[in-house]
Amino acid sequence: MRRLRFVMLALVVVISLVLVSEVNGWRIMQAFYWNVPTGTPSWYSNVYLKVGECVTDKIDCFYLPPPQKCISWDNNGYEPYDYYDLGAYNQKGATQVRYGTQAQLKALISRIKSFSGVKVMADIVINHNSGGASQYNPFVGSNTWTDFSGVASGRFLRSYYDFHPNDLHSTDGYGTFAGMPDLCQDKEYVKTNITAWLNWLKNTANAGFDFWRLDYVQGYAPWVAQYIHDNTGSPFIIGEYWSSDRNAINSWLNSVNRANVKAFDFPLFYTLKSMCNTTGGSFNMANLSGAGLVGINPLKAVTFVENHDTDVSDPIIYDKMMAYAYTLTAEGDSCVFWKDYYVYNLRRTDALGIRQLLWVNWRLAGGTTTVLYTSSDLYIAQRNGYGSNPGLIVVINDHPSSWLGATVSTKWTNTTLHCYAWNGKDTAQPAQKTTDSSGRTDLWAAPRGYAVYAPVGY
Ligand code: CA
Repeated sequence: MRRLRFVMLALVVVISLVLVSEVNGWRIMQAFYWNVPTGTPSWYSNVYLKVGECVTDKIDCFYLPPPQKCISWDNNGYEPYDYYDLGAYNQKGATQVRYGTQAQLKALISRIKSFSGVKVMADIVINHNSGGASQYNPFVGSNTWTDFSGVASGRFLRSYYDFHPNDLHSTDGYGTFAGMPDLCQDKEYVKTNITAWLNWLKNTANAGFDFWRLDYVQGYAPWVAQYIHDNTGSPFIIGEYWSSDRNAINSWLNSVNRANVKAFDFPLFYTLKSMCNTTGGSFNMANLSGAGLVGINPLKAVTFVENHDTDVSDPIIYDKMMAYAYTLTAEGDSCVFWKDYYVYNLRRTDALGIRQLLWVNWRLAGGTTTVLYTSSDLYIAQRNGYGSNPGLIVVINDHPSSWLGATVSTKWTNTTLHCYAWNGKDTAQPAQKTTDSSGRTDLWAAPRGYAVYAPVGY
C-alpha cells in the first residue's frame, strides 16, 4: 500500500511537470536562415559559439536545418539526395553539406546537450527527393530522375517503385513539391526506412537529434506524422502546415491526434505581419484577440515571427518587436529566428530586445489568457499565471505617433506593477503603476511599441 501510494505520488509529480512544460512551452531558436554563409568556419561551428549565450538567454531547444546531403552540397537542405550522408561522403560537389561536416554537426549537438534539458530539433524533408540519376520508368513510359541507387552511403536506396506513380497508386492524393520525385510513404520499404533513418539520427554516434520539424506536411497523409511519432520514441514534433487557415491546420492536428505533435502558427504570423507592416496604424488591434492557431488550440501551436522562408518571400519589415512581444507573451511554444536575433540585432542586452522577452516568457508568462481591452490601436491582455510564474500583462500600441493606455481590471489588487520589457518609437521605460483594491489601473505603451507589466520584484 505504501509502495502504491509512492507510485501514485510519483505519477502526480510527473504529470505536474508535464503540465508546467506545456504551459510555459519550449523556447526554440531556429538556428539558420536561407543561404547562410558557406565559408570557414562552417555554419555549424558558428552556431556552436552562440549555444552557451542562447541557453543563458533561456533558449531550451535548437532547431537545426535539414542535415542530409542534397542535389548539391551547398543546397539549403530541402532537396534530399542521400539521407545517411550528413557531411561524411565526398559526393555532389563536396564532403560537407551546406552547414558543415558530420563531425561539426556532432560537436554542435554535443555542445547543446551539455546543457541539462536543452534539446535539438532536426528539419525532416520526406515528401520529395532530388538529385537522383535518370532511369526508364515503366509507370511513366519515359525517363525520370528517380534512381537513387548510387548514394555513397549505400543506405536507403530508392528507385521508381518508391515514388509516384507506382504499382500501388498514381499519387498519394496530397501534394508534390516543385516537380521533384514524390516519395511514396505508403510503401512499407519507404516508411520503415524513414523511421529507421530518424532513429539513426537520434543516436549520438551519428548525430543526436531529439525532436523533429516535418517539412511540408501538406505533401503527405496525416498518418505519416502519427507513424513517425509512434515509431521514433514519441518526440515533440512540429509540422510545417503552411496555410493562413487555422481551421485547416487544426484539422491536420486532429487527424494526427498526438499530444506532442504540434504545428507552426502561420495564421498568427500573417496577422502579426499585417500589424507590423501597416505602419500608419490602420491595422485593427482588436484582431489580435484570440488570433491564430494559438487562439483556438494553444497546446498545439508553435508561434513564430519569421522563418527561413518568410524572411526571403514575405518578411515583416517594420517594428518587428511588436510581433515578438505578442508571441513571447502568448500561450504555446515559441520560436525565435536566428537572423532576427543575431543579424538584425534584435537580441539586445537591455530590456528592449528579444532576449528580455525570452526572460519574460521563462519567468513571468504562464496560464490562460484574458484579453482586458482592445481598440483599433491598442491591445491589452493578461496571462493569468501558473505555478511559480505570476502571469503578466502585455500592452501593444500600433498608433504611429501617440502613447496610448487604458484603465483595465487586472488580477492583482493593491499591487505595484513594474514594466519588465518594452520598446517603441519612444524608448523611455513606462512608469510603474499601482492597482486599487479592485485591481484597476491604467497601463501604457509607446507608439508602435509594447510594454510588459507584472508585479514588482521578479
Ligand atoms: Ca507527396
